[in-house]
Amino acid sequence: METRTALFPGSFDPFTLGHANIVERALALFDEIVIAVGINEAKRTHFSLDERLEAIRRIYAAEPRVKVAGYDTLTMDFARKVGAKYIVRGLRSVRDFEYERDIAEINRMEGGLETVFLLTEPKYASISSSVVRELLDFGKDVSRFLP
Ligand code: ADP
Repeated sequence: METRTALFPGSFDPFTLGHANIVERALALFDEIVIAVGINEAKRTHFSLDERLEAIRRIYAAEPRVKVAGYDTLTMDFARKVGAKYIVRGLRSVRDFEYERDIAEINRMEGGLETVFLLTEPKYASISSSVVRELLDFGKDVSRFLP
C-alpha cells in the first residue's frame, strides 16, 4: 500500500506545544509527517535553521514516522520532492483562515496538493512562535510553551 505522507511546513521559530499537538494529531491521519522548516532569507529569525532543525529532531528522535528537513523552495515543490500529496496546517483563528485559504487554493491548483486543516485545541490557541520570541527577548522563561 502507498505511504501517505503529509508535509507540515512552517517557520517553527521556535517549535511550540501548539505545533507538537498538530503533529501528534496528524500522525493519526497519515503514515508519515515531514516537518519542513522554511528558510526565508527575507525573514529574520530568532533561532538559526540548524537550531530549529536540531530542536525538532530531538523531540521526535523516537518517532520514525516523523521526518524533519529544511527547505528553501516553494512549499509545493518541496512536497513533490519528498513524495507528499498533502499539506497539514493548524488553524487558530479566522485570521489564520484568511491567510491559509489563498495559499491552500494555490497549492491545490498549481501543485495538486490537498491541504488538511486541524483546528487548534483551545488550550494552545494563544501560543504562537512570535509571542514566545517576544518573551525570550525580554529574558522570560518560555519552557511551559515548548515541548
Ligand atoms: P508560518 O510562518 O508558516 O505561519 P509557523 O511556524 O508560525 O509558520 O506555523 C506553522 C503552522 O503551525 C501553521 O499552520 C500554524 O497555523 C500552526 N500553528 C502555530 N501555532 C499553533 C498553535 N498554537 N496551535 C495550532 N497550530 C499552530
